[in-house]
Amino acid sequence: MIELKSPAEIERMRTTGRFVAQVLTELAELADVGVNLLDLEHHVRDRIRERGAQSCYWDYAPSFGNGPFRNVTCLSVNDAVLHGLPHDYALRDGDVLSMDLAVGIDGWVADAARTVIVGTPADDDLRLLRATEEALAAGIEAARPGNRLGDISAAIEAVATGHGYPINTDFGGHGLGRTMHEDPHVPNKGRAGRGLQLRAGMTLALEPWLARTTDRIVFDPDGWTIRSADGSRTAHSEHTIAITEDGPQVLTRRLPRHADSTSA
Ligand code: MG
Repeated sequence: MIELKSPAEIERMRTTGRFVAQVLTELAELADVGVNLLDLEHHVRDRIRERGAQSCYWDYAPSFGNGPFRNVTCLSVNDAVLHGLPHDYALRDGDVLSMDLAVGIDGWVADAARTVIVGTPADDDLRLLRATEEALAAGIEAARPGNRLGDISAAIEAVATGHGYPINTDFGGHGLGRTMHEDPHVPNKGRAGRGLQLRAGMTLALEPWLARTTDRIVFDPDGWTIRSADGSRTAHSEHTIAITEDGPQVLTRRLPRHADSTSA
């Protein structure tokens, strides 16, 4: 079932979205050579506590994963791309770090992810990162009333394949609102003009993620951390959006620097 959100409900999700965007911005600024992933995780725990927010990842227990997720942030380095467990690891020069954060505030959820390169970026990594951001922008642009779900998927796919990157379809975007995962599933590959008709009031997390040279994934023994099967580097970009009569709105838009994150 897809629950359409009222404009007032979308505003509440935007409040959460601004917080998520702000914390991801802080992480991007903190992530530097020598910084430990556990320090980033603890920064987010502190911010969530201060804000009175609830983590969507803490105790998340889907069909995969060995036991519930006991962290608030997914931190995935280099060939790891999704659900990376924060662990005792000091970032190194040139590392590619994907950060995924989902929280609820007063019962309304927002979910976003961002990839940064620590220290000196390699050209191949920069190209991959830009492709995920471009694919996300294309998917957002297609999220309009009257279009179909396949238009979003096809737009994401066209950018990725246009850059020569293969696409894995085991994990993709999703509806969200009162919880982190709601209908529909939003594949990162699809046929334009097919699938569910998009309507104003739908709220979706779009999240293209790519590995440079493979569409296959492997899980770590922890059951959580997902890596490219060939060890190639990866990137992930995600926004929570609302489809409105006026077109797509990004609810997890980054605020300008120095903006106050604690006010709605
Ligand atoms: Mg996410």
